[in-house]
Amino acid sequence: MSDCLFCEIVAHRVPASFVTEEEHAVAIRDINPQAPTHVLVMPREHITSADALTPEHDELWAALLRLVQRIARDEDIAGRGYRVVANVGSMGGQTVDHLHLHVLGGRQMTWPPG
Ligand code: 5GP
Ligand code: ZN
Repeated sequence: MSDCLFCEIVAHRVPASFVTEEEHAVAIRDINPQAPTHVLVMPREHITSADALTPEHDELWAALLRLVQRIARDEDIAGRGYRVVANVGSMGGQTVDHLHLHVLGGRQMTWPPG
């Protein structure tokens, strides 16, 4: 989808700070970090949100979570704990309609989120 910012980033048509790139997923640093570590993990495929996932995406979803774990280890936040967030839709606070997981760490998280 050419009008999707994250599709453009995945295709390297819009610059971003890549943490890692895999066959089916990539991870980039959030342009407006909310914690010392703030990485966005997303599929290369355009999927609108977590709510649009189907059973055909089960393997992809698992790969995204594996990538989250690897990033948490590499960023040295796994031991102390971190947060994984998927905002869904406008009331969920989603601003980019391409599925992504926020990986946030390096500071104490609070609850409830705003
Ligand atoms: P959402 O609000 O959809 O859950 O998350 C979108 C995230 O994308 C936000 O945290 C926002 O800071 C980040 N973001 C928006 N535009 C860009 C961009 O051009 N590059 C990067 N790296 N992150 C972006
Ligand atoms: Zn997209």
